[in-house]
Amino acid sequence: MLANVLHAINGVDPQEIPYKPHPSFVGAKNRCLRATVYWRMGIPRTLADRAQSLSCEHKALRELTLRTIREKSAYRLSCENTRVLCGLVEFMGNKEYSLEADIDGVLTDMMNRRYLLQIEPVVQKAFEELLEGETYLEKLIKCCFLMKGAGLTQCVLLFKNKNTSAYLDFLLGYDCKADFLEILSVSSSQGDLITPLQNRFTGLYRAGIEWFEKVEEFANSSILPPRSFSRTSWQCSYCSYGNLCRQDDDKSTNPLPMPWSSLIRRVSNGMSTCIRQE
Ligand code: SF4
Repeated sequence: MLANVLHAINGVDPQEIPYKPHPSFVGAKNRCLRATVYWRMGIPRTLADRAQSLSCEHKALRELTLRTIREKSAYRLSCENTRVLCGLVEFMGNKEYSLEADIDGVLTDMMNRRYLLQIEPVVQKAFEELLEGETYLEKLIKCCFLMKGAGLTQCVLLFKNKNTSAYLDFLLGYDCKADFLEILSVSSSQGDLITPLQNRFTGLYRAGIEWFEKVEEFANSSILPPRSFSRTSWQCSYCSYGNLCRQDDDKSTNPLPMPWSSLIRRVSNGMSTCIRQE
């Protein structure tokens, strides 16, 4: 009676969201380059059933969390939904397209220290991985973009479990000049002891810029990037281009999966500029 109409009345029309570079669309381990290239090329998307209404749900969860912080915590919350300029990237022939985003807010503690606040709702599976030390590179890169844009050096990256009421946060420190990010501490609402699998990263911002360059490069060529994940992966189950991707399998000129590290520019001493354990 209602189940079959709710998505129709509340779902987002994917055609109304054309691709443009945004910190939320950066890739690292969990976003598919091939799917992003399809989107950039303007190929119509069909949202997978399980992705319907997601952005509305995320917005509601963010607002719920912001309200709790605003009304009940000792932190001062300011600059909510303030737009920041995170950098310039190439897009549709414009080599200086503004990479902009709205930050969730800025927290000020009782010692007047200021932190960027970034809230990320995640599913139970992702939350369990975070408890096991997973670091979610896409989210870290996004925080580098946002800290640079906001001119802040610390960030509270707050994950909200969508299936339970649990939270988990990373306190991040970022040296924008050196493009060096450190996870300073991790805490969870259940008091778990969490040790990140890696806590020091160099070159994440640069790698994020290179991701957008790669999307442009593929979109402007006739070559499709390879599939990033297996068909049974959760990433493919959420993908808007599943059918097309399967049809295009044989046409892909590069059958090998592209490791994320291939997006990292090499420097003259032969060392990678990114994700190098310090
Ligand atoms: S179906 Fe999977 S591999 Fe294909 S474009 Fe989508 S996410 Fe990428």
